[in-house]
Amino acid sequence: RTTIKELLGDYKKILHHDITVQGWVRAFRSNRFIALNDGSTINNVQIVVDFEKFDENILKNISNAASLKIVGEVVESQGAGQTIEIIAKKITILGDNFTEERDKTILQPKKHSLELLREQAHLRFRTNLFSAVFRVRSSVSFAIHQFFNQNQFFYMNTPIITGADAEGAGEMFGVTNFDLNEIPRDENGDIDFAQDFFGKKTNLTVSGQLNVETAMMGLGRVYTFGPTFRAENSNTTRHLAEFWMVEPEVAFNNLEDNIDLAEDFLKYVINYVLENCKDDLDFLDKRFAEEQKQKPEKDRASEGLIEKLQNVIAKRFKRVSYSEAIDILRNSKENKKGKFQFPIDEWGADLQSEHERFLVEKHFECPVVLFDYPKEIKAFYMKLNDDGKTVAAMDVLFPGIGEIIGGSQREDKFDVLTAKMKAMNVDEHELWWYLDTRKFGSVPHAGFGLGLERLVLFVTGMTNIRDVIPFPRTPHTAEF
Ligand code: ATP
Ligand code: MG
Ligand code: MG
Ligand code: MG
Repeated sequence: RTTIKELLGDYKKILHHDITVQGWVRAFRSNRFIALNDGSTINNVQIVVDFEKFDENILKNISNAASLKIVGEVVESQGAGQTIEIIAKKITILGDNFTEERDKTILQPKKHSLELLREQAHLRFRTNLFSAVFRVRSSVSFAIHQFFNQNQFFYMNTPIITGADAEGAGEMFGVTNFDLNEIPRDENGDIDFAQDFFGKKTNLTVSGQLNVETAMMGLGRVYTFGPTFRAENSNTTRHLAEFWMVEPEVAFNNLEDNIDLAEDFLKYVINYVLENCKDDLDFLDKRFAEEQKQKPEKDRASEGLIEKLQNVIAKRFKRVSYSEAIDILRNSKENKKGKFQFPIDEWGADLQSEHERFLVEKHFECPVVLFDYPKEIKAFYMKLNDDGKTVAAMDVLFPGIGEIIGGSQREDKFDVLTAKMKAMNVDEHELWWYLDTRKFGSVPHAGFGLGLERLVLFVTGMTNIRDVIPFPRTPHTAEF
């Protein structure tokens, strides 16, 4: 038994042999040609059916979305665009296909909007578009592990349920196990949702960073790659309530080493996709080109999808300090004409995605790494620079995306860290274990966080983050 991918790739050995293929019908033309797909590749294999040889009951049930097992002979195909086809000898229908109901779903063979596909997220795996996106997503994850493995990192699993708020951004989901007979109440008698994990307050992780930092002080180079939760009650095309984050942490690295690592890492993964996902990328590239054609000329992308990926790995990312970026933004025509929703008038302003995208897409026209941010707008654990005003933070900004990576050199000095925690209202007692790492052989170190879905958006050319995660979890989707 082989997959269709194997079959199409290595057909010479099996020419004129009988083989078995199983899959779903993508199309049944002229009662004679079935386009069969099993998910292993974007390509279908053509099954030739001589209708005189088959029972009418079987033929009647072969229609779009039906699941079939076929035994047949592999022959060279005369048809354009395909090397082989299979002359069916035996056809078995594997499961039900309620055609009337099917035609009320996205499995009805016609073009559907992404919104409708999203509403039926459980069926969209059956479309060319989403199977391509999710195959690419799988390759991206694989390439991530491969990159770190080749660079002598160790893969650490960090807690999903935790007592720590790594970001201090108040975006945590609480965890509860309450016994219905002993529902915890606050002083007003209301249910206290902030409790209780066996009597303690816990939440779903917003970042594994504090844990990988702890493991790094011992293992040297580590990374975590897991589900991450943020109670983002906003509806952007870049935020999910549940997403996957990749977080490396490296001993003895400073900010510049960290930026080098982030750049090498992103280029490695993009190159891996270019080399290993050719068929899916060709499909996504065509789709991207068609989508551009629908847009007014001024909004069209200046390069194709594959071209964009090739260009990104060919050039060095532009490295710019926060202070330089603020000057550029403040003096930009956009700012002066009031085109930004959040005007930039002074040093210290937090950058919004409109500013990030201006820098990347209009000003530098390439990926940009911003570094040395004001300490007030970044998390407590980032290393204070000698100026006392900025921290050794860096954000990698990508065209069409904005922030794809956020990272920093970490504060490794016990005294400075505790002073920052006090100033930023971070509870030192809750994080005693994290502070301990600064007491016994602390070392300079740095790391970053990449949102997997933002990278998948970039490499697939999709524009809504809900379309690159199999089961999107947002304020409006709680099923699945
Ligand atoms: P943003 O400014 O876009 O809200 P952030 O600065 O809050 O992101 P970080 O805490 O720096 O995010 O997290 C590291 C990375 O995780 C980000 O660079 C981004 O790629 C990703 N990320 C953060 N929040 C989300 C989210 N809600 N959904 C998907 N990815 C996210
Ligand atoms: Mg955020
Ligand atoms: Mg940010
Ligand atoms: Mg960030």
